[in-house]
Amino acid sequence: MSEQLRTEVRSWLENNVPAGWREAMTGCDQDAFVAAQRDWFFKLVEAGYATPHWPERWPGGGRSLAEQKIIYEEVARADAPRLILYFVALYHAACTLMECGSADQQQRFLPGILKGDVWCQGFSEPNAGSDLASLRTRAERRGDVYVINGQKTWSTMAQYADRCLLLARTSSDGRPQAGITYFLMDMRSKGVSVRPISQITGDDEFAEIFLDDVEIPVEDRVGEEGQGWAVAQATLASERGLTLVELTQRMRHSLGRIGEVMRARGCADDPVLRAAFGRLIPQVHAACALADGYLQKRISGEEVVGDASIVKLYYARTLREFVRLGQQISGLDGQTMEEFTRGGSQETGNWAVDFMNSYNWSIAGGSDEIQRNIIAERMLQMPREPRDWRWQKGA
Ligand SMILES: Cc1cc2nc3c(=O)[nH]c(=O)nc-3n(C[C@H](O)[C@H](O)[C@H](O)COP(=O)(O)OP(=O)(O)OC[C@H]3O[C@@H](n4cnc5c(N)ncnc54)[C@H](O)[C@@H]3O)c2cc1C
Repeated sequence: MSEQLRTEVRSWLENNVPAGWREAMTGCDQDAFVAAQRDWFFKLVEAGYATPHWPERWPGGGRSLAEQKIIYEEVARADAPRLILYFVALYHAACTLMECGSADQQQRFLPGILKGDVWCQGFSEPNAGSDLASLRTRAERRGDVYVINGQKTWSTMAQYADRCLLLARTSSDGRPQAGITYFLMDMRSKGVSVRPISQITGDDEFAEIFLDDVEIPVEDRVGEEGQGWAVAQATLASERGLTLVELTQRMRHSLGRIGEVMRARGCADDPVLRAAFGRLIPQVHAACALADGYLQKRISGEEVVGDASIVKLYYARTLREFVRLGQQISGLDGQTMEEFTRGGSQETGNWAVDFMNSYNWSIAGGSDEIQRNIIAERMLQMPREPRDWRWQKGA
């Protein structure tokens, strides 16, 4: 069955990955990128490859985690565009709705996702990232609505979003986690303003969201008031390690790019660069094996706390070393900002931009330091860090 699925997906990708998409997405503006993402999304939905993790009653749904992994591996192998615009909708929003949403919410929102509704995630705030539970955006109940005031930041693709998965504080009593409530916010509501954040790469892939007396109907609250922290865990667990399988596989397929540049620049025999390349190759394969092993553990129910952190940490470090070598072998060209390719792997070969982007992976989804804390404290049972570590270090 799995080999048959692999053959089917491979042949579909051979016939359907948009020809020349890399060239078209190099140096294009965000609107062109969004239009291309929409086309690719609808193709995948129609073929049933966008929603393998949805239940069987949905088109394309009902695939096991092992089958989903095959689809991701093949997408990486085919170097197909990544579905950046729809990732939050397909995974974070859909899985949260299926696990914690009411029947009415599922009926109102899930079909819209398949029709192309874009969702964003409004969790982080200027002073609440790693320590998400300290978030301060307020939600106050007034009759049939909640009135929201506050600010969110780093919200990926928020400027294109129809809806937002929003965490806000409904109470300051008790533990910080206890007073958080989860909402499905309409981004067109009065009082929502979105300001894209210009990045050092020239991209603006995320945005700040300002909330000024925004009204959210009570029926768009997920779970009970004050239960938002538990709902947010469902959101954060939704992609189940598939992204790292895809990204490590993409990195493995990109190894040839380093060899090509070395040959093109006549430095294939340089002993120092050859040794660096020789060190990188097993590291990339180890990252693939770690991601694969992690998913196998999830499939067999043997995952323990800290497993995901190890894979993410190792991938982030390997990615940085990969692009650093790319820069090193490219000489001055590797220091020059060229037009970059949207929606591809992390190793586009535009090394200066790749270098800057590689740091995303040491921050997004929990920074390297937070992953190390999880491994040390929760996996290895080492003593907890003092809570006031910043003060003790004089930071
Ligand atoms: C590419 C990308 C996409 C993102 N998309 C979204 C999105 O769609 N929606 C959303 O809500 N957020 C998003 N984020 C935000 C992301 O979740 C936060 O950036 C992340 O949680 C870190 O929070 P922070 O930026 O506030 O940094 P801080 O938490 O302020 O951390 C600053 C530094 O202090 C360190 N630090 C903090 N606490 C500790 C500790 N206890 N021990 C040791 N070191 C510590 C951190 O490791 C870091 O180096 C995205 C981020 C990136 C990079």
